[in-house]
Amino acid sequence: MDLATATFKEISSAVRGKQISALEVTKYFLQRIESLDKRINAYTTINSAAESEAKIVDQKIANGEDPGLLAGVPFAAKDMFCTKGMRTTAGSKILQNFIPPYDATVIQKLRNAGVVILGKLNQDEFAMGSSNETSFFGPCRNPWNTDFVPGGSSGGSAAAQAARLAAGTLGTDTGGSIRQPASFCGVVGVKPTYGRVSRYGIIAYASSLDQAGPLTSTIEDAALALEVICGQDERDMTTSDHQVPNFSQDLNEDLKGYRIGLLKEYMNSGALSAEVQKAVDIAITALKARGAQFVEVSIPLTEFAVPMYYLIASSEASSNLARYDGVKYGFRAQFENLSAMSLDDFYGQTRGQGFGKEVKRRIMLGTYCLSSGYYDAYYNKACQVRRLLRDQFLDVFKNCDVILSPVTTSPAFKIGDRVSDPMAMYLNDIFTVSTNLVGLPGMSVPFAVSESGLPIGIQLQAVHFAEQKMLNVGLALEKESLVAGRSPHVI
Ligand code: GLN
Repeated sequence: MDLATATFKEISSAVRGKQISALEVTKYFLQRIESLDKRINAYTTINSAAESEAKIVDQKIANGEDPGLLAGVPFAAKDMFCTKGMRTTAGSKILQNFIPPYDATVIQKLRNAGVVILGKLNQDEFAMGSSNETSFFGPCRNPWNTDFVPGGSSGGSAAAQAARLAAGTLGTDTGGSIRQPASFCGVVGVKPTYGRVSRYGIIAYASSLDQAGPLTSTIEDAALALEVICGQDERDMTTSDHQVPNFSQDLNEDLKGYRIGLLKEYMNSGALSAEVQKAVDIAITALKARGAQFVEVSIPLTEFAVPMYYLIASSEASSNLARYDGVKYGFRAQFENLSAMSLDDFYGQTRGQGFGKEVKRRIMLGTYCLSSGYYDAYYNKACQVRRLLRDQFLDVFKNCDVILSPVTTSPAFKIGDRVSDPMAMYLNDIFTVSTNLVGLPGMSVPFAVSESGLPIGIQLQAVHFAEQKMLNVGLALEKESLVAGRSPHVI
């Protein structure tokens, strides 16, 4: 078995069958991180207990106990997930030394399934960004070409997955942060339906949009990870009691009877690069040949999706980030005479030094939108339009099972190219933000490679809780993928 390409099933059955120990698997990946991550900067923290955690899995197997569905499979998580005793920074100076006293539910579920957590992954600060350039820990690099961004905000997760610095990774997606880096790095990335996965213990960015999900090398691995992490959680009242299907067992690439929607507003957006357009066209032809039917559908409110998203996300962020005040935990500015400080100065200096530029921009925008006099004109209005957007999507899903579209307008861009132009960066989110505004499941499937050798993903979206349909179309796309057999240059 080659661990650089092995699937979850291959690893866990070899560990269970004692052909290889969980400890050996863990050591392999830790060594890989040691030798490759200097050039990628995907990890912010390595779990110093990883080897001893692997030994516990081996011990369970030796004792004849059930080691779990993903026994000995090494994962790493975006630095948004609280990990007991392991530093969790959200990519920010303000949480630079924060060590949570508990695990996020998702981390706990992975551990219960026999997963070994290798460490924590780089990201845009508080998940605000599309390129992983706003991280306090410096930019993460794309393993296919280290001059390019890996995408964001879960850039470390996508880059680590592409370079196989873990067998599986976790990200969060508020407006595209799993799908967009997955597309740029040539890996599978799934954002589940809002409410499928517990947000307990995940650092909040915009609570009505945030959702956690897996980034993996194959669709089957993503399906297995979803089986483990989905489900109702009494610690998160927004989790749904919908039954969690056996996604991996129900995978089926037969597309007969499937209707796939093409959104008029996405396909004619004019913003699409020729290479992404070509990838989408090839994907459509391939799926037609496999029996899928295509229908044109329309969401007229698409033109308002990006402004709606940035208004709502910034408003919720300004409220969520109020907790970082230097009093309870996290970074506190140094003061010569603390007792002589006014409270305003104490907060102001701590937050002024602790947050980066992009985070401050969002806090100011959000505070403005929520302030009295503007609340109705901006925040409330955006929430009303959000509801109408949902109605339009629900109508469209009466006519199709899955919507196929690009993930981004272009393949990965160069580090530094867009970071000084926030508007250009925001507009790049046009294809991904509606999914979150409506709470739908969405995913990116690695499909094509650009002339300059960078991956291009295809986005699939389904109606609430119809992840299985999306995964099935994803499986068919995977079989036709032009990325198959190619690996990032860094390896
Ligand atoms: N690029 C979007 C933003 O900056 C999405 C981020 C995300 O999904 N976390 O808000």
